[in-house]
Amino acid sequence: MFMKKGIFITATDTEAGKTVVSLLLAKALREKAIDVGYMKPIQCAGFDASFVREGLGLDDALSLINPYYSKIAAAPIIAFKNIDLDKIFNAFRELSKKHEFIIVEAAGGLLTPIKKNYSMLNLIMDLDLDCLVVSPLKLGTINHTLLTIEQLKNSGVNICGVVINQITPKVNTRLGNERIIKEFSNLPIVGKVGYLQKKVFFDTSRILKAKAQNDKLPFLDKKYVWHPFTQMQDWLKQDNLIIDEAKGNYLKDIKGNWYLDGVSSLWINVHGHRHREINRAIVEQLNKLEHSTLLGLSNTPSIGLAKMLIEIAPSSLKKVFYSDSGSTAVEIALKIAYQYWQNRGLKNKQKIIHFSNSYHGDTLGAVSVGGMDLFHKIYRPLLFSSLEVSAPIHITDLAKLKKIIEREHNSVAALITESGIEAAAGMIVWEKGILKEIENLCKKYKITFIIDEVATGFGRTGKMFACEHESVKPDIMCVAKGLTAGYLPLAATLTTDDIYNAFLADYKDQKTFFHGHTYTGNPLACAAAIASLKIFKKENTLLKLQPKTALLKKRLEEFYKLEHVKDVRQFGFMVGIELAPYKWQDKIGVKVCEKIKEKNIILRPLGNVIVLMPPLSITKQELNYLLDSTYWAIETITEK
Ligand code: PMP
Repeated sequence: MFMKKGIFITATDTEAGKTVVSLLLAKALREKAIDVGYMKPIQCAGFDASFVREGLGLDDALSLINPYYSKIAAAPIIAFKNIDLDKIFNAFRELSKKHEFIIVEAAGGLLTPIKKNYSMLNLIMDLDLDCLVVSPLKLGTINHTLLTIEQLKNSGVNICGVVINQITPKVNTRLGNERIIKEFSNLPIVGKVGYLQKKVFFDTSRILKAKAQNDKLPFLDKKYVWHPFTQMQDWLKQDNLIIDEAKGNYLKDIKGNWYLDGVSSLWINVHGHRHREINRAIVEQLNKLEHSTLLGLSNTPSIGLAKMLIEIAPSSLKKVFYSDSGSTAVEIALKIAYQYWQNRGLKNKQKIIHFSNSYHGDTLGAVSVGGMDLFHKIYRPLLFSSLEVSAPIHITDLAKLKKIIEREHNSVAALITESGIEAAAGMIVWEKGILKEIENLCKKYKITFIIDEVATGFGRTGKMFACEHESVKPDIMCVAKGLTAGYLPLAATLTTDDIYNAFLADYKDQKTFFHGHTYTGNPLACAAAIASLKIFKKENTLLKLQPKTALLKKRLEEFYKLEHVKDVRQFGFMVGIELAPYKWQDKIGVKVCEKIKEKNIILRPLGNVIVLMPPLSITKQELNYLLDSTYWAIETITEK
């Protein structure tokens, strides 16, 4: 990961004048008192690197400025036997330490091959710099410039603008080119270089603008944004991280600091940020159909995804109803379960059973079946009444539930539960077997069994869905969060055929499920979800998770050495470390998570419980770092 402290100069092709533009831009930035360094990582023939080095009077070693030089005028993949990328990255790091701003010049065009499966574009992406596109004035460059820009945009590279470079004495296309490139690419012209560098103009403030804009963001955030689950009075007083970019298992703030994403951006990221294949799938879908409704129409990705979901879901589930968040998936589950019994003529079956400490979302229906007083108490007058049963932790705790079901089953429509772990309550893990017992009770007493896999779904517990650990087959299952691997808001409520069939009737019978959100089945989100499910297969995500889960389990035992750790709970890749004795007002969890930022890690606690829930793609090395740092942060806050 690199700090963004420079710009990558690319062009339509070789011979576009990148070197001259690099030199002139460096000089223009120097006039603004910026200490500029220069780098040409790879050079095949010519003397660009030494030309700029001398032109700027730089004293950096030529081996840093130009780690790879060959006399052969050919593509790097041909001119060099092997290019070690680390050599380039290390040189870049060295120069970044020395200079305020680095201009990195490409060799050739974007898709110039550097090594197997690695082009200049990959280098731009890995160095993580914004790009400037040099467009030489000649016939055909509009096309080449726009192609270059299109490719950069599709790869998620930020382009700060185009530099028009007049490379021949006479041109009659100058103004035309400028106007059309601007219009078609929607990018500014940030520089112009006349023939023989006679007239030179650079909009340096625009080139540096991204940075300047960022400086205002903390102020604007506090002025305009109301954050969820946040006491804004505290927020307004403190310095807050503003995330601007992400890659793999890391997030980057506007100051250029990278942080390990220790809670998967609130329990959703699966394969890492900006995964190449998910990015590509979304872009391809974007170029085809961004959205079309499922009300009265269908769309291609939503059909493909529904089929894939049914193929991986417990075998009881046969139909998919889309929505856009965990809460809406739960609302839909509750309404379907209720209406199912109404449609079947069992009008008395109206009540819902839920567990204490349960959390199913923040919309009013979901809150009605939520058991967390801290979040929900104030809304009680607005809620429908639901039967709350104290949550079991051991199988023997189920006696109460049995009693209530025996007494009330004729008036109960459904039971809703999280899947073996009450996540938001602080990662409270249930004894294995409880879920199966609940399923048996629901079957026996004809109660629709709803499992909320919003937090647990998509590999988080080691299986695709947590209920698979007990071979449980619910009547309804809610999924969201990891469904799109953390890319886009999408949720689904899966049901059995039996439930679905109870809604089939003449229109006049009013058995239709009258429910639907505007963005239901959004094609971009469905495309992301399809790509994610393919990655599960291709990358063997669940298999690869096993040694990491074992490592996590082993290393979590160490935490009991800490005086204030009361309990450590784990279900696959979901971890809660409970600290005691503290009141929620002590905000001990918040303090630990503040501390761990010093180690460049982002966590978010649940009261006194420190949550670890990294992306499934985290490496063992990163996991060890996460655990070491968590240990350190808890120890520092609670013992020192
Ligand atoms: N159900 C469970 C089990 C959850 O953990 C959550 C969110 N943490 C939700 C539902 C609600 O999901 P959303 O925030 O997407 O509405």
